[in-house]
Amino acid sequence: MPTTLIVGGSVAGTRVALDLRQLGYAGDIVLVDEQAVAPYDRPPLSKDLLTSANELPQPLLPADRAREKAIELRLGAAAVELDLARPEICLEDGTRLGFDALVIATGARTRPMPWPSHERIVELRTLADGRRLRRALRTSRTVAVVGAGFIGAEVASAARTLGLDVVVIDPAPVPMGRLFGDEMGQRFTRLHAMNGVTTRFGRGITGIEDRADCAVVHLDDTSTLNVDLVVVGIGVVPNDEWLSSSGLAVENGVVCDSRCRARGHTNIYAAGDVARWFHRRHNETVRVEHWTNAVEQAQFVAKAIAQPWSVAEFAPVEYVWSNQYEWKIQVAGRPDRGASECVIEDSGHKRFCAAYTRPSGTLVGVLAVNWPKVALLARRAVADAEPMADFLARVGALRK
Ligand SMILES: Cc1cc2nc3c(=O)[nH]c(=O)nc-3n(C[C@H](O)[C@H](O)[C@H](O)COP(=O)(O)OP(=O)(O)OC[C@H]3O[C@@H](n4cnc5c(N)ncnc54)[C@H](O)[C@@H]3O)c2cc1C
Repeated sequence: MPTTLIVGGSVAGTRVALDLRQLGYAGDIVLVDEQAVAPYDRPPLSKDLLTSANELPQPLLPADRAREKAIELRLGAAAVELDLARPEICLEDGTRLGFDALVIATGARTRPMPWPSHERIVELRTLADGRRLRRALRTSRTVAVVGAGFIGAEVASAARTLGLDVVVIDPAPVPMGRLFGDEMGQRFTRLHAMNGVTTRFGRGITGIEDRADCAVVHLDDTSTLNVDLVVVGIGVVPNDEWLSSSGLAVENGVVCDSRCRARGHTNIYAAGDVARWFHRRHNETVRVEHWTNAVEQAQFVAKAIAQPWSVAEFAPVEYVWSNQYEWKIQVAGRPDRGASECVIEDSGHKRFCAAYTRPSGTLVGVLAVNWPKVALLARRAVADAEPMADFLARVGALRK
């Protein structure tokens, strides 16, 4: 019986395992994760987990479901080495596990902070982080959020819901301007302000001091902020170091071909935040750090293992969502690749979208706020490289 070994038991890893069974894969499936807790989903960690009464996200693969699906869970020991010659992986407790197919789904972790960590500083990636932040938000009055990206903005939003005084700091002049351009960045700035959040954009941090009664955040204009809590959301880096001696191509993620196979190998795949694969639509390798990509790439990899004849190339249109204050944000495609943008307002319904085009006039990405129907149209339209004018006409029709 062949064995598929999956390293990393979060959304990408568990989806590969479950999709393999759904496709009728009859081989052994072993799922390894360094955390000792049942696999869980991360998006709620910066949303419901912080604000609702419910302290635990839904497990992705409880032990009884794993048993029912004949998926062997090996939790609580990290993979520390891949030996391609045997082939097998080695866990930190010395266990060696062989495989016929290997799926690398070790995801990402928070980018190391340039400041020493201490009691009043919280990062957010794992369930343990989420629970710690949840507790800290309930015993704090003031919080500084460092980083105004998706995670920072969601934490700021949750902290306001809980009634804290919030200041958000980011070295960029507007939040998420790199992704959506300056005009949309200004809207994100106003969104924070409308919700009572103080923003210090265009400012760097020179240090974070731990005092007995507060944390002191030093900004590069020599001002300081005294707060009870600091939440740092400055991005992530892939968990690929354990592969450094393996001989696999690793360059800010596991380098894969357009079928998500590690370069030069036909039985080793990567999926989710750790995968850097050749994306035909973009004509370059990309690494995507969003939930939907992890799910779709896992689906693709499961098919590539169970039904290799049925897969072509993995070249999805990107999709991500985020909840910030009263905004339900959905993004399709790559707005950052756009040369120009066009904004459509539907103020009566408190919704709008921004559509981004290439110089040729074809749609490359869409940001939709409180407008799920537009987001739905957008993913298809980006896939079809629809002319901007056609897309705008279809969005216009939705306003009526
Ligand atoms: C707080 C938060 C909120 C988010 N919200 C959204 C959202 O609203 N929308 C969205 O699109 N995306 C969101 N994301 C991103 C999304 O959750 C990730 O893209 C997704 O979790 C990636 O899944 P993954 O399985 O590839 O990796 P990960 O979720 O990073 O999981 C990797 C797993 O591998 C394990 N692991 C790592 N190294 C080893 C090793 N050496 N040996 C064994 N196991 C190992 C880890 O313990 C972990 O369980 C959010 C992320 C966070 C942290």
